[in-house]
Amino acid sequence: MTVSFIALGSNLAEPIGQIRTAFEQLHEWPGIVVQGCSSLYRTSPVGYCDQPDFINACAQIETGLSPHDLLDALQRIEQIHGRERGILNGPRTLDLDILLYGDRILADERLTIPHPRMHERAFVLVPLADMDMGILIPGHGYVAQLLEKVDQSGVERIKGT
Ligand code: ADP
Ligand code: MG
Repeated sequence: MTVSFIALGSNLAEPIGQIRTAFEQLHEWPGIVVQGCSSLYRTSPVGYCDQPDFINACAQIETGLSPHDLLDALQRIEQIHGRERGILNGPRTLDLDILLYGDRILADERLTIPHPRMHERAFVLVPLADMDMGILIPGHGYVAQLLEKVDQSGVERIKGT
């Protein structure tokens, strides 16, 4: 069993509901146990700005699935949510990314771990820090240190989550 961190994002079709349902589907998936969930955050779009705000969150899971089988599971859950792939960084009903998989470093045509942009994204680092400020991103440093370097102004915690 390996501890892994998953990033969740949505900005279409009731995003808060999409994220809550995704937490449950992850927990119910064979070979995945959700150990913790961050708060939910309303975040300004990055890259492609002419789209609704996102809801972002992170989950800590424990899994017996290999990294590629885990990616398959995440993409199946995205499909259940009607995910269509369009504009890069564009609007989506649900995006599930593998941030970390134990301390593994991996890069092939389908999968890069750690996620290549996680260390510079406030909408990833802020929810990750909810779970553990001491998470080490191999090659980049600790979440607590990386958080000090990013602009957190576009990331707002949703009260009560
Ligand atoms: P985004 O980069 O906005 O998350 P997509 O969700 O459409 O875009 O993913 C594009 C591709 O990124 C996927 O088909 C997947 O093969 C690849 N990918 C590479 N590394 C990862 C990762 N760590 N987590 C999820 N997908 C990844
Ligand atoms: Mg993705």
